[in-house]
Amino acid sequence: MRHRVALVAQNPGLPFAFEAAGPAGCRLTLIVLPGVAVPAGLPNVETVVELDIFGDPDGAHAWLAGQHASQPFDAVITLYEAAVPFTAEATARLGLRGISREVAAICRDKYRQRDAMRAAGLDVPGYRLIDPVADIGGQVTGLNFPLVVKPVNGLASQGVSRADNLADLKAAVDLVQFINAERLASYADASQAERTGVLAEEFIDGPEYCVEAVASPQGTTVLAITDKGNLQGPYFEERTFITPAPLDPGTAARIIDAVGAAHRQIGIDFGASHTELRLRADGAPVLLEIAARMGGSGTVHYLVEEATGVDFLGAVLQQATRGTLPALEPASQRFAADWIVPVTGHGLYAGLTGADEVRRHPATRMVLELMRPGTEVPEWPRFVGYPAFVLSSHPSYRDCQDYHAWLEDTIRITWA
Ligand code: ADP
Ligand code: CA
Repeated sequence: MRHRVALVAQNPGLPFAFEAAGPAGCRLTLIVLPGVAVPAGLPNVETVVELDIFGDPDGAHAWLAGQHASQPFDAVITLYEAAVPFTAEATARLGLRGISREVAAICRDKYRQRDAMRAAGLDVPGYRLIDPVADIGGQVTGLNFPLVVKPVNGLASQGVSRADNLADLKAAVDLVQFINAERLASYADASQAERTGVLAEEFIDGPEYCVEAVASPQGTTVLAITDKGNLQGPYFEERTFITPAPLDPGTAARIIDAVGAAHRQIGIDFGASHTELRLRADGAPVLLEIAARMGGSGTVHYLVEEATGVDFLGAVLQQATRGTLPALEPASQRFAADWIVPVTGHGLYAGLTGADEVRRHPATRMVLELMRPGTEVPEWPRFVGYPAFVLSSHPSYRDCQDYHAWLEDTIRITWA
C-alpha cells in the first residue's frame, strides 16, 4: 500500500515533488489554488482538487477531514511559503506529523523571527517594525543606513528594497504599503491579512547564501549551502543559485552552527527548511530568514540531489509518512545551479528566446518554463511569478560561472 499524501498548493510546473513521490512510495492528492491549470498525466497524482485554502480555509479543512475519515492521509505537506500556516493547521487537526501552528506563525513573520534569533544570541541585522502612518525618520534612530525595507510576511523578494537615506526610506515604506494592499486585494493571498507590517533593517553588504536542511527532534541536518551572489539592490530579484558554495570549512561550520541554533530557538523540528543569510566583512553569518519548507517550490531538491547525491524530497516524504529519516550523507559530486530568467521589462509576456539553444548545451539539465504566454507582467518589484528556471550541472564552480555568463547573452524574455 502506497502512502497517501496531500500536497498543498504545489506549482504543477515544477516536476520534482511529483517525480520523487513514486520512489518514496507515495501517491499524491494535489491541492491547487483556484484557477491553477493542472496538466494531465502528472506522475504519482491520483487526485487533483481545487481548494481555496486562503479565501475559505474552513471549507478546505472540512474537505481534508472528510477525505481523511474515509481514506486516511499519511501526511499533508507543502513546498509553498504562503501555505505553511494552512498546512500546519491541517496536520494538527488530522493528527499527522508536522511543525506546530505556532512555529508556522513565527516562520511567516520576519519580525517575530528576528526577535527569536536575537533571543538565541544570534547575529541579526538591526531592525525595527515601522508604523507607516507615524513619523518614519524617528522610528529608525539607532539603525545605520543603508537599510532594507520589506513586508513582514513577504515572499519572492516582493516589495523588498534598499534605502540609502530618509527620502528612499519613505519611498520604500510606500512601496511595501502598495505591495501589501495589492496582495490583500488579490484573491490568492487573502490569508496574508494575518499581518501586513513593514520591517526596516540594516543592509548587510556581504555574499548571500541559502542553506537547505532537514529538521527533526534530534537536530538539524544541513544538506547544502548554496551561493546566491551579492545583490546590491535597490531591488532583490532572485537570479542565481550555485551548490555547493565555495566556502572555507571554518565559515561553513559557522553557518551550520547558526542555522542549527536558529532552528532550536524557533522550534523547527520537522521537515525541510530553507535559510537565507549573508556574511559580515569578518565572515560572521547574519541570518536573514528561515522558511519551514523546501526552497524554490522544490527546485532545491534538484540542487541538493545533483550536488550531493541525497534524495532530499525522498527523505522529507519518508519522514512525513513514516516518521523516520534515511541516512543523510551529502557527498561532493558536482556543482548544480539554478539560473532564473530575469524579468527586465514589463508588458505582455510572449515567451523565451534562446531556450532551445540552452537546452542543447551539454551542461543544461532542464529549462522549466513557468510563465504562461499572455501573462501581463508588471515592472519589478511587482511580481507575478518567475518566467523560467535553467537548471544545470558542472564539474567546477568556474565552469558554472562561465555557463551563467553565456546564459545572460543567450536566453531572455520576448514581449508581445
Ligand atoms: P522574501 O521573503 O520576500 O524573499 P527577504 O527578507 O528574503 O524577503 O529579502 C529578499 C532579498 O533581499 C534577500 O534574499 C536579500 O538579497 C535582500 N535582503 C533582505 N534583507 C537584507 C538585509 N538586511 N541585508 C542585505 N540584503 C537583504
Ligand atoms: Ca527570502
